Amino acid sequence: MNDFNANLSRRNFIKSAGVTGVAAALGTSFTAEATSKDPKDVYESILGDDVNSIYTKKGTSLGPKGPIGFEDRNIGENEIVKTHECDVVVVGGGIAGLIAALKAAEEGAKVVLLEKMTKGRGIFECFGSVDSRTQKEAGVQTNKAELLDEMHRSASYRIGPDVVRTYVEKSGEATDFMETLFKRGERGIVIAPMPLKPKYPNTGAPVIDAECMFYKTPGLPKDVKFRSGHVGVYIIKDLTNTAMKHPNIVTKYSTPAVQLMTDNSGRVTGVIAKEKGEYIKVNAGKGVILASGGYDANPEMMKAYLRPEDYSSASWWNPCWGTTGDGHMMGLKVGAAMDPAPHAVMNFTFGSPESFHIPAVRTLRAMGLYAIVNDDGKRFVREDVAFQSISNATNRQATQGKKSWLLFDDTMISKDKSIFDKAVASFDTLKAKGWLFEGNSPSELEAALNVPNGNLVKTIKKFNSFKSSGIDSDFNRDMEFAKEFDGKKYYALLCNSVILATVSGLIIDENGRVLNDKGEVINGLYAAGNASGDFFSGNYPRHIPGTSIGRAITFGYLSAKHAVKGA
Ligand SMILES: Cc1cc2nc3c(=O)[nH]c(=O)nc-3n(C[C@H](O)[C@H](O)[C@H](O)COP(=O)(O)OP(=O)(O)OC[C@H]3O[C@@H](n4cnc5c(N)ncnc54)[C@H](O)[C@@H]3O)c2cc1C
Repeated sequence: MNDFNANLSRRNFIKSAGVTGVAAALGTSFTAEATSKDPKDVYESILGDDVNSIYTKKGTSLGPKGPIGFEDRNIGENEIVKTHECDVVVVGGGIAGLIAALKAAEEGAKVVLLEKMTKGRGIFECFGSVDSRTQKEAGVQTNKAELLDEMHRSASYRIGPDVVRTYVEKSGEATDFMETLFKRGERGIVIAPMPLKPKYPNTGAPVIDAECMFYKTPGLPKDVKFRSGHVGVYIIKDLTNTAMKHPNIVTKYSTPAVQLMTDNSGRVTGVIAKEKGEYIKVNAGKGVILASGGYDANPEMMKAYLRPEDYSSASWWNPCWGTTGDGHMMGLKVGAAMDPAPHAVMNFTFGSPESFHIPAVRTLRAMGLYAIVNDDGKRFVREDVAFQSISNATNRQATQGKKSWLLFDDTMISKDKSIFDKAVASFDTLKAKGWLFEGNSPSELEAALNVPNGNLVKTIKKFNSFKSSGIDSDFNRDMEFAKEFDGKKYYALLCNSVILATVSGLIIDENGRVLNDKGEVINGLYAAGNASGDFFSGNYPRHIPGTSIGRAITFGYLSAKHAVKGA
């Protein structure tokens, strides 16, 4: 049976998007419902009059399902047990939400911060920023036009100019604000520019100096650099402490926002939330800021808005499953416009078939000397391009039933003994799981992997000839940063594309105000971070430094700055 994966209209999505399941709205049987006599009307009769259909076979999304907060029903006055008054409600206690709450509070607004989970999500290492104090002091000069150009190109020009331009112009100011918060925090967190690698393979994309890091913070655990996303935990903890102590902020954890409230003019006036199983109202005199993150823990939304190949063969590495798209759905419900499908996903190349390769093995990959082949022992992508591009190529292989293998030898991983030792220590576990194969020669590895037609041996020979000539005539990889295969042991490690976050959302303006599909402002409603849109399209461009956290900080800050005016 064929499925239609509708490019969902607001009306049809919301109609069945509640807790009971979005899926029913998305898949419609052609044979069962094609009742129109006029073939021209057939799509409309099945899908409704404002739906564009994309005829595509859906995949199965096996990712995690978090607790959905959004409720699409009329909640009666008699169900409300308490009403709170404040100026600004912030939905979500991740990075965008904490920055928004603290900025609004610093401006004198009374803030209620609602977080669905027991803690706000905090998973990141570095973040994008332009012209912050610390960058200026270090003499970092970002080529802003080049950065903007690359952001537009990476989005295939499917975004408006205002939001990304505002990011480039204001991210430094927002970073400086965050720095003032860290000065008051308990951990002494230090922001510093991320040093650019002195030499980098020519990936065909510019290397842009526009990123900051936290690694200079004294007292962070030593291994924090090798644990993907770990620094973010400490940053969120610190900001959460500061927010909890702030006299203008009331924080409510384990309290999901379930829907927005509006007045007769359509202005958003507050939220209904669920606290200890009971409904409360939080009236917001000045605005509601949706900072509820993406929907990587909502399989139905993944299926609705992403390309099937992006999720159907992927693994997930998205700790904290509060990100179920509640803000997206709450916004759609009050008339917000959403980024067009397919949405952008942050997908990386370090996936184990279960989630994410352990840090030691990930570090092997970071060395970048290897080749990547499919089950047929053939290369299918230049290995030095940005994570998301390799992920896309891996996903494309999966649509043809082929897995992706990272090929390396012992000379490649012995470059740094400490890394090699850590990596080797994990090899037995990987072998036992069937994720790692080895051989004493290319042909032994080929036999172990069951590759047909001598392909793996041929691939390795060809790769070595590319290294000698300096020209990869198959994929144009920068061979200066490759190494020939000449070791005593040869390895193949199974690697999936892995999903970290979704990064498309509600269309906003340069102040973070949510827009409807006529480009009009929905008064009183803001979105920031992964709940917001008009920034990425298709993919998260990992080669542009840290724009996901950078955007969250910038628009958390800007939306609060605007909301407190009560415009
Ligand atoms: C392993 C890993 C490493 C990463 N590294 C980086 C990096 O180095 N740089 C970078 O730029 N990006 C990185 N990212 C991506 C980054 O983590 C996200 O893009 C970022 O967290 C988005 O911030 P946010 O505030 O918009 O949303 P989130 O951090 O997802 O926070 C949203 C919060 O809202 C809460 N929430 C959801 N619904 C409701 C509701 N109904 N009511 C109340 N609360 C709600 C959620 O529980 C959550 O706490 C990484 C991601 C992963 C998984």
